[in-house]
Amino acid sequence: MTAEIITIGDELLYGQTVDTNSAYLGERLTALGIEVKYKSAVGDDVKQIVDAIKLAMKRSDLVITTGGLGPTPDDVSKKAICDHFGRKLVLYEDILRKVESWYAKKGVEMPAIVRNQALLPEGTRPLSNDWGTAPGIFLEEKEKLFFALPGVPIEMERIFDNGIVPILKERIPSGRVIAFRKIRTAGISEARLHEKLSSILEESGDVGIAFLPTSSGVDLRLTIKSNNPTEAQRKLDDFEKKIQGKLEKYIYGTGEETLEKAVGDLLREKRLTVAVAESCTGGLLGKKITNVSGSSDYFLGGVISYSDELKMKLLGVPKEVLEKEGAVSEKCALSMAEGVRRLTGADYGISITGIAGPTGGTVDKPVGLVYIGIAGDEGSSARKYVFTKERELNRELSAQTALNLLRLELTQS
Ligand code: ATP
Ligand code: MG
Repeated sequence: MTAEIITIGDELLYGQTVDTNSAYLGERLTALGIEVKYKSAVGDDVKQIVDAIKLAMKRSDLVITTGGLGPTPDDVSKKAICDHFGRKLVLYEDILRKVESWYAKKGVEMPAIVRNQALLPEGTRPLSNDWGTAPGIFLEEKEKLFFALPGVPIEMERIFDNGIVPILKERIPSGRVIAFRKIRTAGISEARLHEKLSSILEESGDVGIAFLPTSSGVDLRLTIKSNNPTEAQRKLDDFEKKIQGKLEKYIYGTGEETLEKAVGDLLREKRLTVAVAESCTGGLLGKKITNVSGSSDYFLGGVISYSDELKMKLLGVPKEVLEKEGAVSEKCALSMAEGVRRLTGADYGISITGIAGPTGGTVDKPVGLVYIGIAGDEGSSARKYVFTKERELNRELSAQTALNLLRLELTQS
């Protein structure tokens, strides 16, 4: 069964409302083993909506629209549905009574216009809406299913879950699955990943693979469509093992596991502690580490040494280093990492110093230049990175890179 989603509303086209409805429907339909092939957005305009429905009904088995079901004249989806399917709007008495009692319960007088909610295309099966006044609409034509839902996310979600899912379950061959596996990598680019995996990509069989870059690294998404759920999981397991064999240390987790969680688990397992010394990230690294509940087992704390003064006073960065090399330098990063380790007695000290931008860059030290230091039992080191021109991104990439450096250090020790 293939599906298509049409979201309706001028505000979606103006960019004033982010379309979360289609994301919700896409996820739910996929989980049911239904393949979503297309989605589109159209304005509150009868012709645009009719065109979209016509195309969708031709190429997909299941069509779901959201939005434009309200009682006001700007909501024209019902008119478009009538035009396309050649039906009239008729009054549904039971819907009218339901809407009336909805207002009665609230103790509010019902505006006359709300009567329109009980007018539905003839032959429609209404889908009950207990969270608003617009019922969903269900029509069947030549083995194809058509549903129209209100635009308000909570109403659309509830009608889908309670009204549509049972109908779909009756019609989908049981056992149909679309299964996923997410493998998370860090410290390696998309292109290098592809290179490393090239020899096994041909052996992927019916498992599809996608490379999805994020600020923490690149996620690999494996997908399989199958009529046999057990076999699908086995194929994903097999392919995941092959990938692990090729990537080893670059993989830090699967699913929704985060870098900070992976690092935390390693620290706890090894009974080690960490402290941070941050400049351009202003505490973001400490924030990330403490995103994980239970991080007090291994995180001691840190110093946000934004000024040179504090770098010297609290972390013992020598004045000469700041004068000769500057605060954004390898030596300063080293000294900060060692300083915070000494100050706190942690097993590891991690430091970040850089130029987040957008101002403050020079030819020698451009915006995006960041040094990350790590000090431990075995000595200390600092590395140079040149990230981007964007302040927020530079801070995010710095913190994620620092986490990954610590992770690599911990997997090697
Ligand atoms: P109702 O009759 O229950 O009021 P409706 O079908 O008339 O609903 P709309 O008027 O189209 O719904 O939209 C209602 C609200 O839902 C608006 O605030 C709109 O921005 C929001 N909305 C509509 N479509 C989407 C969407 N695809 N994703 C997220 N929000 C949406
Ligand atoms: Mg609307």
